[in-house]
Amino acid sequence: MSNRVKDHLHPIIQIEDVHKSFNQLEVLKGIDLQVYPSEVVALIGSSGSGKSTLLRCLNGLETLSGGRILIDGTELNYSPRTIQKIRREVGMVFQQFNLFPHFTVLENIIEAPIHALKKSKAEVIENGLSLLDKVGLRDKKDVYPRKLSGGQQQRVAIARALAMNPKIMLFDEPTSALDPELVSEVLTVMKQLAEDGMTMLVVTHEMMFAKEVADRVIYMCDGVIEEQGPPLELFSSPKSDRLKSFLKRVV
Ligand code: ADP
Ligand code: MG
Repeated sequence: MSNRVKDHLHPIIQIEDVHKSFNQLEVLKGIDLQVYPSEVVALIGSSGSGKSTLLRCLNGLETLSGGRILIDGTELNYSPRTIQKIRREVGMVFQQFNLFPHFTVLENIIEAPIHALKKSKAEVIENGLSLLDKVGLRDKKDVYPRKLSGGQQQRVAIARALAMNPKIMLFDEPTSALDPELVSEVLTVMKQLAEDGMTMLVVTHEMMFAKEVADRVIYMCDGVIEEQGPPLELFSSPKSDRLKSFLKRVV
């Protein structure tokens, strides 16, 4: 993948035998996964297989029922201090953009860093504007979200997550709520981010994106990692029957 330097010795995400149940329902049934700095991992699988739950566990939005997760060496232990640190280091972008409707684009981007980062307001604004350049929306800085297309709103949501200067970005079906003609502008931004060396975990139904951008594709099925590998290998010669039938349905 491009010229990104990869550190394959020290995983930035370590997921060890992670289990998660909601009451009687076991949704994650022992997930082991290590992600390395600058790696781009695509998570695919049918609805209900546990992809979103896994991302939410990584961000401290869910507590674990078993196993452990380390982010850049810090074990997620749900102390307020750790959660605060993890939320800062792990940015998340959801299917629904969740922008603050009463804030302008720039206000959306600077809101969290102004409170959380030890930087001057001027610095945070300058950084916010350069992130808007990155996602191609500087000219929209004073506009309210409702005036933007879905694709533009999602690009703002990406810039907003980046404003905290995260080490890892999680994306949960970032293009699923978009009209088809708006998908590519968001994928282009994500591709650029990958090329810049961001560590990314992306739940997606965009198989072309997974093929082109991901270093590794993980197929989740019924709460376990059923199969994983480099995209070309996984898509061209899947081994598990469940993956074979999944690919027949989506490709
Ligand atoms: P995916 O993202 O792969 O579609 P999810 O992680 O959203 O899968 O969901 C996996 C399973 O966990 C589903 O059966 C879903 O209904 C269930 N689930 C997810 N969140 C909750 C929750 N907060 N309470 C109860 N069940 C949940
Ligand atoms: Mg989901």
